Parts: sequence; C-alpha cells; structure tokens
Amino acid sequence: MASSYLLQCPNFSTNLNLPSKPTTLKITPSFLLIKAAATSNNIRDEARRQNLTNPPQIHNFSAKYVPFGADPATSTESYSLDDIVYRSQSGGLLDVHHDFSALKAFPGSYWRALFDSRVGKTTGPYGAGVWSKKEWVLPEISSDDIVSAFEGNSNLFWAERFGKQFLEMNDLWVKHCGISHTGSFKDLGMTVLVSQVNRLRKMNKPLFGVGCASTGDTSAALSAYCASAGIPSIVFLPANKISIAQLVQPIANGAFVLSIDTDFDGCMQLIREVTSELPIYLANSLNSLRLEGQKTAAIEILQQFDWEVPEWVIVPGGNLGNIYAFYKGFHMCKELGLVDKIPRLVCAQAANANPLYLYYKSAWKEFKAVKANSTFASAIQIGDPVSIDRAVYALKKSNGIVEEATEEELMDAMAQADSTGMFICPHTGVALTALMKLRKSGVIRSSDRTVVVSTAHGLKFTQSKIDYHSNNIKEMACRYANPPVSVAADFGSVMDVLKKYLSKTPKY
Ligand SMILES: *Cc1c(COP(=O)(O)O)cnc(C)c1O
Repeated sequence: MASSYLLQCPNFSTNLNLPSKPTTLKITPSFLLIKAAATSNNIRDEARRQNLTNPPQIHNFSAKYVPFGADPATSTESYSLDDIVYRSQSGGLLDVHHDFSALKAFPGSYWRALFDSRVGKTTGPYGAGVWSKKEWVLPEISSDDIVSAFEGNSNLFWAERFGKQFLEMNDLWVKHCGISHTGSFKDLGMTVLVSQVNRLRKMNKPLFGVGCASTGDTSAALSAYCASAGIPSIVFLPANKISIAQLVQPIANGAFVLSIDTDFDGCMQLIREVTSELPIYLANSLNSLRLEGQKTAAIEILQQFDWEVPEWVIVPGGNLGNIYAFYKGFHMCKELGLVDKIPRLVCAQAANANPLYLYYKSAWKEFKAVKANSTFASAIQIGDPVSIDRAVYALKKSNGIVEEATEEELMDAMAQADSTGMFICPHTGVALTALMKLRKSGVIRSSDRTVVVSTAHGLKFTQSKIDYHSNNIKEMACRYANPPVSVAADFGSVMDVLKKYLSKTPKY
C-alpha cells in the first residue's frame, strides 16, 4: 500500500530506482512516511491525508501565456495563466510556455520513470492520463481544483488485420482517443480548461460560466466537465449539422444549448463577440489551455511504445488545434530528453473542408479560408480554422504532410476498418484514407511504424454507418456495405439464406 502513493510524489526516487535528484533541490522525505488512514470519506480527503494533492513546494515548475511564435527569451509580452486573455496584443494566438529550465533540472530518464510509475493508479489526480503529466500541463494548479473524469490512458490498438489486409503493413497502430468519458479526445483538453476555470472562480474572478461554439464534441466535453464541477455551460451549435448522439450530451448534462441556423464558422464568430461582452469564459481551442491537455496523447503514444518513437503519426484536422498539440507533446519529450527525435506528422482533412490542404499544395504560398461543405466527418467541417498558424508551424517543424479524403474515400476506409473489428468514426476514416494514399505513393513504407489517431468513438456516428450499410447515400457506391438480410420466421427460409451464404463465402 505504502508504495502506491510513494510513486505519486514527483520528487521521491528511492523506491523507484529513479536517477538521483539534482542537489539544489531539497526533499522532505518525512511527509512520505505518513500512514494512510484505514478509512476515508472520499479520494480527495484520502489524498490530502497522504499529503499528496498539495505536496510541499519541492519544485518551481511554472507556465505562462506568451504570444504564439514569439521567442520566449526575448518577448516581453506574457500573461499569467490566471489572467482571462485569449489573444496577444497584436491579435495573434497565445501559447502556454513552460519554464523549461526548471523542468530540465531533471533528466529525461527521471520524467520517463515518473510518468510510467503513475499509469494504472487511481490516486487523484495523477491516475488520470492527462494529470499523470501534471508538471508539464498545469504545474501550479492545486489538485483540489482539478475537475477530472480519469481521461487519457487510452488504448493504443495494434491494427494487425487492417494493416496486413489493406496496406501490407505490420506495424500499424490506432490511438483510440475517442474511448473516453464523452467519447472524443476533447476530454483531454477540457479537463485542463475547466480545472483552470474552477480555480479562477474560486479566486473570485468575474466568470459566470463557460461557453463554446462546437461541431459537437467540444460541447459534449464542456458540458460534462462543467456539470461535474457545478459550473454553468453555454454552447452554440450549428442547427442540423451534428449527430443526435452529440446533441444529446450537452442537453442531458444541463448546458444552455443554443441551436443556431448557421455553420460552425458562423457559431464561432458569434461566441467570440458574445464572450467579449459577457462574463463567459471562451472554451474554444483558440484558448491555448486545452492544447496542454491534448498534447498528453502524444506523450502517451511514446510511453506506450516504451519511449520508442514511431515514424509517422496521422491526425485528422479541422480547427487545427490538435495537430499542433501533438507536435507540442512530441517536441517537449525531445527537448526534455525523454526521446531523441519526433515522428513525422500527417494532417488529414476532408476534401469538403480542406483549407490547410490547399495551402500546403500551394507550397505555403497563400492561405485562403474556404466555405466548408457538408461532410460525414462533421467535426472537421471547418473552413476558417482558428489554429492555422499553429498547424503550419507543427507541419514545418516535423517535416509533415497534408492529405485529403473525399466523402466516398473516408466512408469506404471507415467501413474497411470496421470490417476488421474496429468501430471508428468518419474522422478516423479521413486519417486512414491519408494513410492509404501515402502507402500507395510509397511515402509511408510497409515497415514504418505508423500511428493513426482516432478522435471520436464510432458510436457517436451510427447514422452515417447505417446509411452506408443500407446503400442509402447519394452518388456513393458503398462498396463495403454489409446490409442485414430480411428473412421470414421459418426454418426453411432461414436454411435457404444460410446455404446461399455458406456457398458464396470463401472458406478459411
Ligand atoms: C474536434 C475534432 C477533430 C478536429 O480537431 P481540431 O483540433 O479542430 O483540428 C477531429 N475529430 C473529432 C472527432 C473532433 O471532435
């Protein structure tokens, strides 16, 4: 029992065989010896008794907002994470900048062992995948303020049959970020944002609640985390453009839901205007806090490969925060000595909403926002992505590539993946299409270790699967449709159908 909470302490190395601490840092081993009480009222009390949630000040890790792209060494503009600020003075994006010199006081081997020691535990908050990296996420927040649903630590699935059957690959993996509390990777970022809002409200900052525009998954995550902390949430949704499974989540979680007759870009414009007038905190990925949580998925991939670096990571992109978050996670691991290189990133877009793809194809000459057309990958139906500069930075720094997928391609890829036992969302179908194209052109080789990021749970997108398998999509061949066979309730009819099936199906 004792060791399970010893492992949670960021600076205790004896039991773990961690490399020794830098001599400038004082440790206080006595607090670690406090015995766990036999009973506890709740996990927060228990953790506090063990002095875990607020360990003595044994480190000086910190983070602040700086203008995105500015050199933190020379830039004079910066803000506390406790400030309510979304944009720099010049109107550009912000970035959360960690004090790397403090983090670098510990070698990469220390961080690897620390992060590894927290996996699979239930001690709050470090048992959550995101908060197991707390020192790299929000180092200064009190654990009492953290609003978590144990997000992260998601399945890294070896796509053995899909890889072999369709791509001649043997080292293909799918990172199932959608197997999560609200069914998408948005939970990774939302736990960080809502935790920080929880802290700001306790500091009596003027924040009535939190708002977002959403293509579905952001509002689901926001409403769940806010509801669990008792914070009001307000969501702007484009009418008739999101799935029922996505719409029902904020409704059920008690958010104030506005269904607006426009698209995502229209909702985004409105929420920005509203949040500049009213005491509502803006939760869109313009807000760089979310990316701090999302970047932990990249760190987790490395961790799950025992800190070996895959060749490729493919991420579907819409508003383009996530592709940058992945870059940031990988970059931090390299910078802090956990690994010695980073993977090449591929951003995959729907051809119906492909402003990044067009920009890439112009050799980064000219960016033009587009009018996003309707796509089955509805969470990435975005024509004017807020994080365009972040995405370009991530792709340039990682020798990255942008690909696109038509509606037919993404639906076929999804059906093929499903036929090998996955149950993925259309966005993951976009990423798999990108992979198929890059395999075909030989850019990704048969032996390359490749990770496809699955962004949402397939169960959120059942209607599109039903339409596909009932061959009910205009101008689509639905080549891999597998419709159910209607048959009368008598033995003879059932036998006839089965005999026909057995004679047609190849024997294994
Ligand atoms: C939000 C979302 C994306 C796109 O992420 P961005 O950061 O906006 O590029 C992709 N897939 C799903 C399922 C999403 O919810």
